[in-house]
Amino acid sequence: MRTIIALDSLKSNKDKITSLVERTCGLVAGYKLGWPNLIGTSPPKIVEAIKRPCPEKLLVVDLKLADIYYTMKTILDEFPDSIDAVIAHAFVGRRNALEELKHYLDMRDIRLVLVASMSHPGSKDVIDPCKDKILGTTRQIKPWGVVAPATRPENIRIMRRELGPGIKILSPGIGAQGAEPGDALRAGADYEIIGRMITTSPDPVQVLNKIIARHKSILNEY
Ligand code: C5P
Repeated sequence: MRTIIALDSLKSNKDKITSLVERTCGLVAGYKLGWPNLIGTSPPKIVEAIKRPCPEKLLVVDLKLADIYYTMKTILDEFPDSIDAVIAHAFVGRRNALEELKHYLDMRDIRLVLVASMSHPGSKDVIDPCKDKILGTTRQIKPWGVVAPATRPENIRIMRRELGPGIKILSPGIGAQGAEPGDALRAGADYEIIGRMITTSPDPVQVLNKIIARHKSILNEY
């Protein structure tokens, strides 16, 4: 299973989140929650809405942290140990930021995922031209994974080539942002992060089954 559902569109509606998670837990690699899910509620309540019905699957908390270590730690202290991974921006660099963050997360047995590139066109203006520095920082920090967009599969290929097979590539940008299910896997990603295509559908299970069939046929090509 290679799909991680981005829950953003469900905002902090815990009943809607739990209902979607109950119906899809057996069909996905995990879930990603972000700021839209956290505003107006508390991290433990939203985490429980996902982890109670589906404790075994990956829960990625997408805070896109980009601050000094102290502030990033202060935010993460609010989350329970049951979360599995946290997304931070790579561009904040190593010293007094990612190095300490990685150590803190290791102590809590939570994985670090760094944003290496973004799926929107503006990523080409600022983040993508810094690719070499971002790759260098990523190699030094050794996170569990990186985020690279399905909308620009060439970036996924570069990440895979430069970072090797040991670092997971999580790839958003499918459906609402234009890429097709399977595009990122074909380019070398490990997981596809898919939000609105699933969460705004009247039949999320049917959409997921189609995505799974597509993933299977692409993985069989290799
Ligand atoms: O609804 P949609 O499939 O566009 O959701 C994509 C998700 O992936 C959103 O949560 C968005 O914040 C996230 N994301 C992204 N590009 C990145 C990192 C995360 O679109 N580089």
